[in-house]
Amino acid sequence: MRSSSFSFPGLNATGPALLLSALLFLLFSGVMRAQMPAAKGRLVSSVESRQAKLIEMSDKIWALAEVAFEEGESAKILADYAEQQGFRVERGVSEMPTAFIAEYGSGQPIIGILGEFDALPGISQKAVPTKEPLREGAAGHGCGHNLFGVGSLAAAIAIKEAMQRGEIKGTVRFYGTPAEEKYFGKLYLARDGKFDDLAACLDWHPAPKIEADVQSSLALVDFIVEFRGQAAHASGDPWNGRSASDAMELMSAGINAYREHVQPTVRIHTHMQQAGDVVNVVPDYARFWVRVRDSKRAGMVAVWERVQEIAKGAAIMANVDYEITLVSGLHEVLVNRAGGEVMQQNLELLGDITYTPEEVAFAHGIQEATGKKQVGIDGKVKPLEETLENPGGGSTDVGDVSWLVPEVRLGVTTAPVGTPWHSWAVVACGGMSIGHKGMLYAGKALALTMYDLYQSPATLEKMRQEFETRRGDGKYEAILPASGPPIPGKK
Ligand SMILES: [Zn+2]
Repeated sequence: MRSSSFSFPGLNATGPALLLSALLFLLFSGVMRAQMPAAKGRLVSSVESRQAKLIEMSDKIWALAEVAFEEGESAKILADYAEQQGFRVERGVSEMPTAFIAEYGSGQPIIGILGEFDALPGISQKAVPTKEPLREGAAGHGCGHNLFGVGSLAAAIAIKEAMQRGEIKGTVRFYGTPAEEKYFGKLYLARDGKFDDLAACLDWHPAPKIEADVQSSLALVDFIVEFRGQAAHASGDPWNGRSASDAMELMSAGINAYREHVQPTVRIHTHMQQAGDVVNVVPDYARFWVRVRDSKRAGMVAVWERVQEIAKGAAIMANVDYEITLVSGLHEVLVNRAGGEVMQQNLELLGDITYTPEEVAFAHGIQEATGKKQVGIDGKVKPLEETLENPGGGSTDVGDVSWLVPEVRLGVTTAPVGTPWHSWAVVACGGMSIGHKGMLYAGKALALTMYDLYQSPATLEKMRQEFETRRGDGKYEAILPASGPPIPGKK
């Protein structure tokens, strides 16, 4: 494979720096490409050949920055492009207008790939290394989902082309999964059995490092507690009042006492959403948002039950009524090391991401502005880690998918070391070349890994066996309200 078929990543470099990094890159990539089997080289070229279009789509989604279940334009950009590329596209899947499934090919195996595209409210930011909103008060891609959706679609298209060349057989299915940040769109796809016929599924996530991700996540449940009492004049006739906000405060105190007696893996978050409007009225309504997490679903469920008892106790003490409404819940990720090992081999084949002096300077700017050491960007491929029994960190609706099908996960560098996640700093990097490079790299790594899975029924079988073992007799049961996805404006 000719190294000149590689695109040059140092788009912003100038003068001697540009020349030097171009030479180094061509030399380096020539070495890497020489080790790569020809069929895999073609997958890499497929992603590179549409690099400009992929970056354009990512930047559009980045600028749109649409939040959970309002990602109409973002979903359309991805679905339209998939359709143009010859995929069969089904839109508005599982009662969600912004969910879609794009499929190409026929027969077995069916391999899925997940794409997200929702933004986070309130963190709008320009692609500059100091805090400067693009639109004051607007949303921003503080989790890099503009890159996530496009990178995954790039991989699906590369696989489609390999199918067209007759190199692999089967079906590739891209899932456009909305509202990861708030309502967990994948739960409704899971509820409707949309993942049930997959042999395997893949995803990636923007990150401060490159790694085949073999760590689990936390299971969680979200619910709302509403207290209803009796309003009265807070001074004139308080004996006629029954305070809903007293109940909420008592519930909060109960949870805080309970924290001493939970396992170290448990997290309980609360948000007092409403507690009256003025000081001289006894509040007759209060609304409390509670989230419980644990490293395993079973532990989470036990704490969830106890916290509901605390709500009941608080309502009794304040002499008010209470009502609990389930929002939704997530399963922890079931790790698949067999799949992770295939991903690891392909990361090593692709090698590290290198950065221009301008990108390193941008990273230093981000680190300075967020009070971090100016250590730059980590583009090195990490060795495959041991899987921890109780990981820390957050939760993801990919967890639910991983209970239905062996899931292969990837993290790719799209922001400097130490960047605060879900912040303006991640938004900034996702709208410039540091984010773009990570996205293109992810597209290649996912395509190479999917290719290996299509080629090796034995690997798929090994992944399936590990999946069955880890799941044990724990049956998947989605934690969802009966009312369906909370689409804005829907009644
Ligand atoms: Zn995310």
